[in-house]
Amino acid sequence: MASDRLTARGLVLGGVAAAMDLVLPRPCPGCGGPGPWCCSCDSTLAGRPRRVRMPELVACRGGSARLTLPPVWALSRYTDPVRSAILAGKERERRDVPAHLGVALGRGIARLQAMQVLPEACWLVPAPSRRAAARSRGGDPVTAMARAAARHLAAGGRAAGVAPCLVTAGSARDSVGLDAAQRAANLGDRVRWRSSGAPPEGAVVLVLDDVLTTGATTTAACRALRREGLVVGGVLVLAAVPPWVTTR
Ligand SMILES: [Zn+2]
Repeated sequence: MASDRLTARGLVLGGVAAAMDLVLPRPCPGCGGPGPWCCSCDSTLAGRPRRVRMPELVACRGGSARLTLPPVWALSRYTDPVRSAILAGKERERRDVPAHLGVALGRGIARLQAMQVLPEACWLVPAPSRRAAARSRGGDPVTAMARAAARHLAAGGRAAGVAPCLVTAGSARDSVGLDAAQRAANLGDRVRWRSSGAPPEGAVVLVLDDVLTTGATTTAACRALRREGLVVGGVLVLAAVPPWVTTR
């Protein structure tokens, strides 16, 4: 009986906590201020997407043929507050964060389309993550960002589909904690095509990711998409570790 009462009490407290989440937004993961993602932190992602200078490493690794990468853009360097927000979004308790960051990606896509460097009709492909890693984190945050970006574009009258058609093979380790060479070797050609999430044949696609570090994931994703005959129009990430290309 006592355990029943405790269980019932736990359910009530859990319900109260859920209700409080609705009433009192959680703190901003960027600065700790009133949340869930404050205007000040959001403004750090509001500039025009900048071209990223890709590390040389990725041009030489990950396959026998040298790959010409499409344009790679980022909304921010990988610093706070976006860094803190991305990390918070990968934790189970802040599963609300990717949707907010996805809106910023949607704005960036609209900007690229207005600059006429990206076609109006394109499909958004979330960068591949290991299924087990995504499950343990309670869902893939990059896919959640892509869906939020598509909703933002749709609200502005721009159609964009989400095509979750890439996953990393089961043998690939989670990339957290690996250095550049290890990431490249880990991913290599282990990115797998998943036809259930595929865009229409011949579609122009834009690869989305949260952070670009070594470029290993980006390279592997572009290679896998081109193998399937898709046109990769570019890559857009929230934050980049490598510096900007200065000319654009
Ligand atoms: Zn903030």
